[in-house]
Amino acid sequence: MHQDISEVLYSEAQIQAKVQELGQQITADYQGKHLLLLGTLKGAVPFIADLARAIELPLELDYMAVASYGNSTHSSGVVRILKDLEGPIDNKHILIIEDIIDSGLTLAYLVDVIRRRNPLSLRICTLLYKERTRLKEVPVDYTGFTIPDKFVVGYGLDYSQYYRNLPYIGILKPSVYEGTEP
Ligand code: 5GP
Repeated sequence: MHQDISEVLYSEAQIQAKVQELGQQITADYQGKHLLLLGTLKGAVPFIADLARAIELPLELDYMAVASYGNSTHSSGVVRILKDLEGPIDNKHILIIEDIIDSGLTLAYLVDVIRRRNPLSLRICTLLYKERTRLKEVPVDYTGFTIPDKFVVGYGLDYSQYYRNLPYIGILKPSVYEGTEP
């Protein structure tokens, strides 16, 4: 696993420090509000698990799974819901928890779906934000790290479903995925 990584971008300790910082900000911002953290499966699972424990407020957790990637390294633009929320959200403040924003297509789709369900408020928190031209601009309220436009894995992020269990975030060697594109 580790031999496929060309560079570690953020260590486990750096990630945990950032998660604590975000948790404190969110705790301050949502005092007295009925908060639901909406995690996106599967990539945001480690992040939402750590972040939820860094937020010192009563809150609910729910998950949506949307597909946009397949096994390649670039967004197809085709987004569909594989798993939806368990109930209505019109009496809740929703904070979407994303692992990474790349083209913005997945998030733009999700925001559109959630807005139509009339939550009390809707904000976005992402661990990683790629430095690139976005196909869809969606304002992000909480960002962990801004990263270069490279394909990264670890801490929930996969390539072909692997590497999610790396405790750090690293750049995947292009040799791992070159030649595998259709
Ligand atoms: P977007 O729709 O913003 O282009 O892509 C969002 C989704 O694409 C993310 O939730 C993630 O699943 C995947 N993705 C985008 N960039 C990367 C990356 O650098 N590494 C990994 N592992 N997945 C990525």
